[in-house]
Amino acid sequence: MFGQDDLRKKVIETARIMAARKLTVGTWGNVSLRDDRGLIHITPSGVPYEALTPQDIVSLDIEGVVVKGFRRPSVESGAHLAVYRSRPEIMAVVHTHPLYSGVFAALERDLPACGEDFALLVGDRVLCAPYAPPGTPELAARAVEALGVRFAVILSRHGAICVGTSPEQALTVADVLEKNAQIAIMASSLGNPRYVTAEETEEMKRLLAGRYGQKS
Ligand SMILES: [Zn+2]
Repeated sequence: MFGQDDLRKKVIETARIMAARKLTVGTWGNVSLRDDRGLIHITPSGVPYEALTPQDIVSLDIEGVVVKGFRRPSVESGAHLAVYRSRPEIMAVVHTHPLYSGVFAALERDLPACGEDFALLVGDRVLCAPYAPPGTPELAARAVEALGVRFAVILSRHGAICVGTSPEQALTVADVLEKNAQIAIMASSLGNPRYVTAEETEEMKRLLAGRYGQKS
């Protein structure tokens, strides 16, 4: 598929899109991609996204050993690696510090689905992992447990981790998570929202299976 240099460029492109969509501020957040050989390519710690070059991206094996790169990898490398270890199908991880999802992180509250896009892409709800300090094995373990088989997890008093089988999917999950959080907050300010239930989510998946999009 991609060569390793292409993947490093893709990590930078994904990180810049994350920042441009205001899913994080400054150098917070981080992005990684997994290649076909199982290596993880991740943003370095504390380098502004606009200044990144492919040489700044750090390549790790699944245990976190640096196999290429001179920078120190993101402090949340452990959480990225834990996700990749627990979910073989996942090829992209985007860790965001978003505004509206951050409200749920501050309340340490799960986020239920407000609409079809979230329900189909992420599930009937996203769980909020209990608090753990940044960059610790505890954060990685709690994030992976609360993520489960879903595509996003909220980190208490911190942010979110969004995953996908491609960088595009992980970014879309991050966008939909943030939009859903905004709808939930705005709907709650006007009344009692009717969230999408687990049964309705399953029904949506069943009804749309093989019918959404164009035939290839
Ligand atoms: Zn963070």
